[in-house]
Amino acid sequence: MTLDEKKNAYAALIVKAGGRVRPGQKVFLRCPVECYEFGRLVARKAYEAGASEVDTEWQDLYLSRMRLDYAPMEVFTHCPEWTALKLNTYAQSDVVFISLRGADPEIFKGVDPAKQAAEMRAMHEPLKVYHKMLTTMGFKWTIAGVPTTGWARKVYPMINEQVAVTRLWDAIFETVRIGDGDAYGKWMAHAENLAGRCAAMTAWQFKTLRYESANGTDFTVGLAEHHRFEGGADRDPADGGPFFANMPTEEVFTMPDCRVAEGTLVASMPLSWQGCLIEDFRLVFHEGAVVDYDARRGKETLRRLLESDEGSRRLGECALVPYPSPVSAQGILFYNTLFDENAACHFALGQCYETNIEGGPEMTEEELKAHGGNVSMNHVDFMVGTADLKITGTRADGEEVVVFQNGTWAF
Ligand code: ZN
Ligand code: ZN
Repeated sequence: MTLDEKKNAYAALIVKAGGRVRPGQKVFLRCPVECYEFGRLVARKAYEAGASEVDTEWQDLYLSRMRLDYAPMEVFTHCPEWTALKLNTYAQSDVVFISLRGADPEIFKGVDPAKQAAEMRAMHEPLKVYHKMLTTMGFKWTIAGVPTTGWARKVYPMINEQVAVTRLWDAIFETVRIGDGDAYGKWMAHAENLAGRCAAMTAWQFKTLRYESANGTDFTVGLAEHHRFEGGADRDPADGGPFFANMPTEEVFTMPDCRVAEGTLVASMPLSWQGCLIEDFRLVFHEGAVVDYDARRGKETLRRLLESDEGSRRLGECALVPYPSPVSAQGILFYNTLFDENAACHFALGQCYETNIEGGPEMTEEELKAHGGNVSMNHVDFMVGTADLKITGTRADGEEVVVFQNGTWAF
């Protein structure tokens, strides 16, 4: 397949598998302005699939950066009514959100973090409806990668920019199974495989999982009562058909009990948060909360993340990803959570996914907390998976089962 043929297949896959656009549905597309040609291709595929309208928002992070650099603090401390109105209304109108992302992982390096923090706080309350529906899959949404020069430069610093962009396209295609053969069919088979893993893990109902790795990770996390492992396809709220919130997706994940976490987790990959990198870091937990941390680079960013709110110091997601995967097979660090999280076991600090426990979506915030669910304005994945990671599950009756051995499924 030529590069153009692959782009074509990828755009079609994003619409058909990722967003599962149905005839008559409206699409809200976000795309980096630099990738406008691919954005147009995705819009065309959506119309061809019967979309009634594709409302497109071109994003330019260089302009976002300028705004952070120049605009005064007052701009960031309140959320305009229309911003909230648009997202909350779309969320409740069964609009398909398609988000194409390709940010330079250090785009916001050095900006005033107080402005970013203020904006996040200001958005939290007005966007509650949107966020609640997003985390409970109340509408269909999908996030997929598109290479920008800023991102490609970071992934391949030693080669010519144009070549780097093409290489990054190719790496992305590999991770989403674009190549010879029917990509959609491959996605469905992959989803079935993940569903099998989820069913097996859910059936164990482990009380805790213990993580051990030679890099210093020695950590035990509690899982929420009546947790469910989820992964692969999400369900269209209208008819239960499969869609994919993340492309690629290799994880099966569940809800940790945010009150139960002990020991040290050593990150196995850098983390880009709010356009800043945190590298070589570790977190020490006691009674579910981070009580100590360190980072070789970006410690200040890590501190801001942990101190954003109470829930940011606790875990909201526990995800298992075998070390060998189409993402890790690329042999690169993507510096982009969408990809890196699908190359290694990870946790998320912050907000949990209500769908990860029985009856979760119907619970109030208080009920959710009583079940060990974490509540936060953040949800930030960080990677801990290594080639030698061992994970042992312990059931309520004390029975132990080795779940992961040498970085991959042990059963
Ligand atoms: Zn995850
Ligand atoms: Zn996550």
